[in-house]
Amino acid sequence: MTEKKIPITGFSSLAIHGGHKQDPNFAHLTPIYATSTFVYDDAEQGMRRFSGKEEGYIYTRWGNPSFTEAENKIAAMEGFGINDKHGNPLELKAILHASGMAAISTTILLNLKAGDKILTHFSLYGGTEELFQNLLPALGIETIIADLRDLNKAESIIKSDDTIRMLYLETPANPTIQCVDIDLLSKLAKQKNMIVACDNTFATPYLQQPFRYDIDFVVHSTTKFLNGHGTSIGGVLIGKDIEFMKTKGIKVHKTLGGNSNPFDAFLLNNGMKTLEVRMERHCQNAMIIAKFLETNPSITKVNYNGLTSHPDYAIAKKQMRHPGAMMSFELKGGLQAGIRFMNRLNMCTRTVSLGTCDTLLSHPASMTHYSVPKKDREKYGITDGLIRMSVGMENVEDILNDLDQALK
Ligand SMILES: *Cc1c(COP(=O)(O)O)cnc(C)c1O
Repeated sequence: MTEKKIPITGFSSLAIHGGHKQDPNFAHLTPIYATSTFVYDDAEQGMRRFSGKEEGYIYTRWGNPSFTEAENKIAAMEGFGINDKHGNPLELKAILHASGMAAISTTILLNLKAGDKILTHFSLYGGTEELFQNLLPALGIETIIADLRDLNKAESIIKSDDTIRMLYLETPANPTIQCVDIDLLSKLAKQKNMIVACDNTFATPYLQQPFRYDIDFVVHSTTKFLNGHGTSIGGVLIGKDIEFMKTKGIKVHKTLGGNSNPFDAFLLNNGMKTLEVRMERHCQNAMIIAKFLETNPSITKVNYNGLTSHPDYAIAKKQMRHPGAMMSFELKGGLQAGIRFMNRLNMCTRTVSLGTCDTLLSHPASMTHYSVPKKDREKYGITDGLIRMSVGMENVEDILNDLDQALK
């Protein structure tokens, strides 16, 4: 099984062919390798595999051909068009996980120990915040949360505390689609030799490649735009120190046991092939919809990083190909207006999550954040009338019509 070495110049070609190896039985698509373990011709072969002298699979928690294709495809996309410091194409190593949260947990436990601190910003994904705030302190790992759009503040925090070991970024982030400057923040962190990790879920490697800057790790929830069809949960950790990823990275990952499974990896492999075409359509629709919402009299505010009114418009423009497909907006009339709007939607889907073909809308105040006291959620910009939207790939006229009638 050798990986196809085809000269590829475009992102979509890579998304389609990258990571694929000819199947020994000539199946067109890499099959779902539904097997827990792999066999040896003889004891000597077993010995060679376990000692690492021969490449090959051993046990699915450690690796599986269905995972390998997804891992190599994602690594290729994250490194697409980037050169390393010697001018050679940047090589990356990805490890597929059971979920975005599994990938994030591995990233932390792989790199930090008791006494270390994480520096991060507001509006992290809820699960990540829960991990950082409520689980890691018991292991002696504390998190400092600051507004990292203020670079002077970021610099003074970094300079004042030698125990900060990791800068953790997530950009763009919920619910206001806040963006932080990956380039400038990673440069500050590297002055103190900190580890820099970035959650690239909202953007995907098609819109944003954090490895263009001086960072060490990218994590994704592949559940979202990478899969693109809402058919499976998954996550991935990508690193640029290949030796570290292949030794300690794999070791920590397989010991923690947050492995993917062959069926979900198969769904992911197929979903990712259309990433470029999907993102182009998602983003094109999102821009039209944001402009429509901005002029609608029932709406007081639209948070979309493609609008010049967004506070992080310039940062997004600098580091993203297009502004993405996530936005939120505030309805006049608070909680009741939010509930009424959600109930009136016909075509668009009422649900949480993001990154599927259909347009998804949620109302945090009555759904995900219902049990969070109002004054706590308002600190994060989750007002009573806030609606979050993952813009889908339907014909934009149909999305506009549905939103328009629900807003009336
Ligand atoms: C969904 C999400 C996660 C967590 O991913 P799961 O696959 O649900 O574990 C992490 N970060 C971001 C930005 C997400 O949207």
